Amino acid sequence: MDCLFCSIASKDIPSQLIYEDELVMAFRDINPQAPVHFLVVPKLHIHSLDQVNEAHDGLIAHIMRLIPSLASEQGIVNGYRVVNNCGSDGGQTVGHIHFHVLGGREMLWPPG
Ligand code: AMP
Ligand code: ZN
Repeated sequence: MDCLFCSIASKDIPSQLIYEDELVMAFRDINPQAPVHFLVVPKLHIHSLDQVNEAHDGLIAHIMRLIPSLASEQGIVNGYRVVNNCGSDGGQTVGHIHFHVLGGREMLWPPG
């Protein structure tokens, strides 16, 4: 297995875990871009948003419904940004789908 986030999901590589259930895990980004920056990652290996299909509908909905409660638990009070970087132009550097949640400061738009 040669995937960083699969290795984190299997606990072969440690992370600062903030949440885990049978489908997903959430852990702090190692290079935070905001006072609060964590990643929500399915345990199932899916390369990117381009590989998501209808079999994943429940999983994606689960992730989206989880994010507000995790944001609140992490102390975010004035809103937050959810980011999925897809593919090289999208800025994806880890080939296992993940959703960034950033908060604790005002976000810029456009993101650049
Ligand atoms: P992306 O560029 O959207 O693929 O995001 C990958 C993110 O994973 C980056 O924000 C990295 O800082 C983060 N990252 C890389 N390695 C680790 C790690 N071992 N633990 C936590 N976050 C990581
Ligand atoms: Zn993986």
